[in-house]
Amino acid sequence: MKNLVEFSPAPIYIKLPTNKSSTRRLIYLSTNSHAETNNDHKVHTSHIFSLYLQQICKTNYMLPEAIKNEYDYIIVGAGLFGAAFAYKASQKGCRCLVLDRRQHTGGNLYCQEAGGIHVHKYGAHIFHTSNKEVWDFVNAITPFNRYTNSPLACFEGKLYNLPFNMNTFYQMWGVRTPEEAQRRLDEQRREAHEAMRKAGVEEPRNLEEQALLLIGRDIYERLIKGYSEKQWGRRCTELPAFIIRRLPVRMVFDNNYFNDTYQGIPIGGYNRLTDIMLKDADTITGIDFLHCHRIWDPESSTYHLTGPGIDTRCHYIVFTGCIDEYFNYCHGALEYRTVRFETEDLNMPNYQGNAVVNYTDTSVPYTRIIEHKHFESFGQAVYDIPHTVISREYSTEWKSGMEPYYPVNDDRNNRLYQQYKKLSENEPHVIFGGRLAEYKYYDMAPILEKVLSMEIPTSANPFR
Ligand SMILES: Cc1cc2nc3c(=O)[nH]c(=O)nc-3n(C[C@H](O)[C@H](O)[C@H](O)COP(=O)(O)OP(=O)(O)OC[C@H]3O[C@@H](n4cnc5c(N)ncnc54)[C@H](O)[C@@H]3O)c2cc1C
Repeated sequence: MKNLVEFSPAPIYIKLPTNKSSTRRLIYLSTNSHAETNNDHKVHTSHIFSLYLQQICKTNYMLPEAIKNEYDYIIVGAGLFGAAFAYKASQKGCRCLVLDRRQHTGGNLYCQEAGGIHVHKYGAHIFHTSNKEVWDFVNAITPFNRYTNSPLACFEGKLYNLPFNMNTFYQMWGVRTPEEAQRRLDEQRREAHEAMRKAGVEEPRNLEEQALLLIGRDIYERLIKGYSEKQWGRRCTELPAFIIRRLPVRMVFDNNYFNDTYQGIPIGGYNRLTDIMLKDADTITGIDFLHCHRIWDPESSTYHLTGPGIDTRCHYIVFTGCIDEYFNYCHGALEYRTVRFETEDLNMPNYQGNAVVNYTDTSVPYTRIIEHKHFESFGQAVYDIPHTVISREYSTEWKSGMEPYYPVNDDRNNRLYQQYKKLSENEPHVIFGGRLAEYKYYDMAPILEKVLSMEIPTSANPFR
């Protein structure tokens, strides 16, 4: 069990009186100089501003509200898994305390407000699912808009529609009918088979050979090669063939990227979704659970957690952080790929006319440009906001201290994860869930499917 490592300054809570709505409003005062506005309900302040607020508080606000000393669940991570778990557990009458080491809730879904535009700070997030239960669940919390993901690819200045469909084939070869397009594809695949046969190669040995067999040279060279090389940081001839198992093509003019029945973005942004999910839980941001001290008491089946501003007990812990970090990297560190974002606010209403444009040639160092306003503004509404925010995405090797984005599920890392999973099975009353704790890439809908199908014990609660 991990002992106390270091504490950040104790958070103070104040409860703001709300006029009309019943929404709880908390202000988190920290001595952290990194000030960040989160959302309508929670505001993180710098030290100076916190002193200023304390002055106001003497007259206007109730001060301070201590967290409770008993919870059913302490949930580590206010991302989608933690927030959905808190929502479900609160609905069952459980008391939940949610901790996150970031300065805001929402995890990777979090959006930063920039003059009427919701900037997807940790990468573009598009919700998509064919599961009606999940779609109804999120829409009952907050309605979603009609955003349809239709990315473009830019190669040497020319634009192509994605996913590969009749529009792409028209742009690539000028073909206008599915029959003509099919003939072209078959021709190119035949050439690739022939070349491999001549070279005495029976099975594709790398990603390049696999892609050539599946889709032919033109599409591979213009739309796959450069993008994959930037994404993985290696040449396609050095990447394993299994990375691309299928390359679906559509013989219709349809630029809708997903095959799912439902897709969209929460109207008003993702913070609205996660804020509502967390509304009945107590939430502390800017606190690292692994820097707190915890003791398991088998007699009462409870954890005693002490840390900055916290001295509380709980019956269960839900951990959504990195599983290797939880066990202090005792078997070694798991590896990730990550993305670096370069975000710019531009003095023009419409930069690229689409939310997502992929850059598929290697002469451009970034993989994509995201223009955030197009996730939520359509038609003339794009011009109602006179500026725009874009993010260039650079795929990067992950190093300690960086955001861990994509697990590298190769043999070495999967074996390592299994060792940690074994350890996790012996942790009393700790539920490990979400993309970091399960070392698995999850889209948002599968995360919700998982939480919705989970049993949430309430009767075993020793405090009742
Ligand atoms: C770049 C990118 C783009 C994506 N795009 C899409 C998309 O378009 N569509 C889609 O469906 N899915 C997308 N996803 C997947 C989506 O982000 C995940 O499904 C979702 O974020 C998983 O939620 P989570 O709660 O498991 O993890 P997270 O959102 O990472 O939440 C975990 C939280 O735990 C906190 N934490 C960790 N350790 C500690 C600790 N010790 N103490 C306190 N707090 C801690 C972290 O700060 C974090 O906030 C994308 C993912 C990435 C990386």
